Amino acid sequence: MTREKDKKIGRERIKILLKEAEEVWEDKPELSKRYVRLAEKIGQKIETPLPTPLKKKYCDNCKQILIDGKNCKIRISKENIVKICEECGYKNTYKIEENSRV
Ligand SMILES: [Zn+2]
Repeated sequence: MTREKDKKIGRERIKILLKEAEEVWEDKPELSKRYVRLAEKIGQKIETPLPTPLKKKYCDNCKQILIDGKNCKIRISKENIVKICEECGYKNTYKIEENSRV
């Protein structure tokens, strides 16, 4: 599972899963977490770390999808964006990159 085509399919699946996770979060938070875990598993399988914009979508600690204004708080400093997960309190820190536009 390391061919380019597989990677491409894998990445598409990850995107879809994370989008689903966002959509079901309010009604089915457990299902939402399962989607995130699945997305991570696919990432490992195709040996590609998730691209940063996708990583930013969920909590690194409890794997909950993070929805701005609903279940996470955002702090922005000079160099970092910090997303504080309201479920576990974990601070997810991301570097602000010049060209990290989604
Ligand atoms: Zn969390």
